[in-house]
Amino acid sequence: MLPTARVILGVPGRLVFGLLVLFAVLAFAYSVIRRVRVLQAGAPDNRFTRIPERIGRTLEYAFAQRRMFRDLYAGIFHIFIFAGFVVLTVRVVSLVVEGLVPGWQLLPGRVGDLYTLAKDVFEVLVLVGVAMAVYRRAFARPARLDLTGDAWLILFLIALLISADLVSEGAKVALHPELKTPFAPAVGAIAGLLGGCSPATLTALYEWGWWIHLVDILCFANYLPYSKHFHILASIPNIFFMNLEPMGRLAPVDIENSERFGVSRVEDLTWKQMLDGYTCTECGRCRVVCPTVLTGKPLDPKAFIGEVRDAVYAATPEILQASAFAPGGATADKASPRKELIGGWISEDTIWACTTCGWCTTACPVFIIPAVDKIVAMRRHLVLEKTEFPKEVQTAFRGMETNGNPWGMAAASRADWAKGLPVLTMAEAKGQEVEVLFWVGCAGSYEDRAKRVSRALTEILHAAGVKFAILGTEETCTGDSARRMGNEYLFQTLAQQNIETLNGYGIKKIVTNCPHCLNCIKNEYKDFGGSFEVVHGAQLVADLIAAGRVRMTGEIAETITFHDPCYLGRYNGVYDAPRQILRSIPGLELKELARSREQGLCCGAGGGRMWMEEKLGTRINQARMKEIAEAGTGAVGVSCPFCMVMIGNARDEIGVATQPFDVLELARRSMAPAP
Ligand code: SF4
Ligand code: SF4
Repeated sequence: MLPTARVILGVPGRLVFGLLVLFAVLAFAYSVIRRVRVLQAGAPDNRFTRIPERIGRTLEYAFAQRRMFRDLYAGIFHIFIFAGFVVLTVRVVSLVVEGLVPGWQLLPGRVGDLYTLAKDVFEVLVLVGVAMAVYRRAFARPARLDLTGDAWLILFLIALLISADLVSEGAKVALHPELKTPFAPAVGAIAGLLGGCSPATLTALYEWGWWIHLVDILCFANYLPYSKHFHILASIPNIFFMNLEPMGRLAPVDIENSERFGVSRVEDLTWKQMLDGYTCTECGRCRVVCPTVLTGKPLDPKAFIGEVRDAVYAATPEILQASAFAPGGATADKASPRKELIGGWISEDTIWACTTCGWCTTACPVFIIPAVDKIVAMRRHLVLEKTEFPKEVQTAFRGMETNGNPWGMAAASRADWAKGLPVLTMAEAKGQEVEVLFWVGCAGSYEDRAKRVSRALTEILHAAGVKFAILGTEETCTGDSARRMGNEYLFQTLAQQNIETLNGYGIKKIVTNCPHCLNCIKNEYKDFGGSFEVVHGAQLVADLIAAGRVRMTGEIAETITFHDPCYLGRYNGVYDAPRQILRSIPGLELKELARSREQGLCCGAGGGRMWMEEKLGTRINQARMKEIAEAGTGAVGVSCPFCMVMIGNARDEIGVATQPFDVLELARRSMAPAP
């Protein structure tokens, strides 16, 4: 490390400097403690579990910033700046101590030399990173970014503090050439550039640079808690406390012992949901494939999480006043409009717009859940506390309550789709070996096209010699849509009924064609006593093809693309199985969509939107169908009955030729006849 060349401050200067540092540290602590106290006032959410796994994830996503590199350019400049700040933390401590205790060196000897080299390199890299960020904001201007003054101010402060330090050190070496070291090449180069300056100028540059560097850092630190750059502090804990449960699982609600349901005010949010707000970097990655943004609806996940954060900030004085930590423990006005999220910060149209497609959750580099958990919690409040929801939702709720399906069709006709097929119910198969239960689902039981897919799967299973059965009229709706539309009570009633039936038959393995049923039974039923291995029909059939138990021999001379269902792909990671089936069919050529797999655009049916009218903006299914048509294929494969309905409707609405097929329909068509 470069030795201190001279005493910068006399005793009065050191006193002023000491008071300045003390004031800055206290002000920073005050701001951060206020933010933490608000979190303490949030609803509980135990995230102190699986600590070794959390540490590993923090190293991978906070320090190595893995998700940032999905956008290579942004990932590169961000890691330069982040790593530079980590390295410079030591430098700041060193300089503060140097200001107070002249001649003191934090890292003497060889360690100091290596640190000097790291500091020198990373200061340059930070400046490169800032220049890249400036270029992107000023010239490239990706649509996901909003050009706020806050971002420019932060970039300016970073550039200033690094430049000031380099110039100060360079002037010091120019004044005292004996201090030049090969471990500080950038500083040495600056010293060379300053070589022609007078000693008075060099002294001024050294001292002014030193002051500017340190005052900038103190200002920067105190600005952070009030800017979007609070993420510099909040993102590491936010990543550490990330959701480790399956992405498709919504946290259960204690219906019997809760006095209030869902979220309407700021203090109804869990502390982690508030921390999500603190952590948002406003990078806009969450909005890129958000179907509601793309179709002009009021929900923008980036704006939504910003509103949650702004609401928390605005309510902070009242929350602190009401908190047990506040002196006097005064009680805040519970009905304060500043704390009202629904109708205050967030409109009901915003709350009902989300398809829960999960894009925003998987896109966020700092593991915020921008919308889904908070939106479902707000819907819970509207449905369970206020009985306020779009009127067509009532029809779906009533159908599920009375007939066990959102269409409200007769429960007694649930197994009619299987008429004429040699399909046994679990009751009929008593005493026989059943390898797997076929969970048909409401769509597979009642919706015409989905019924054909149910029949296709049973024929494939028969051909492969799989011993399976169905529940028949003992099956009822999983409650997935009810839950995502906020009716937790109805969901739990249906879930408990199904789990009792499944456990009663000792079911271990389930296959279903519906990704929503799959997600619900696989990821959510275990919270209510139902633990099952659940696979999608496409997964099971792909395995049967791979094992040679069924053969795809019939040629289908067609080019096809594939639309990834959100609850199969993003939520449950099943991307390959449907594609394996398509590729195994002779003559069928698969061409990927521009937005596919993790980047796939929702069809518009998830989150209960299947049962709601789409009155705002343009239609999501049509937006997706247009993308599909642009692929120029004759057909599109799907693996979800809801996607089939939405895409089929869009095809008719906008008049394109691309035909939708369920992958299993095509597999059935190509399958060799049973020997
Ligand atoms: S879940 Fe999907 S629809 Fe909802 S906000 Fe996120 S990206 Fe948009
Ligand atoms: S929620 Fe995440 S992805 Fe969305 S703007 Fe904030 S940091 Fe970026």
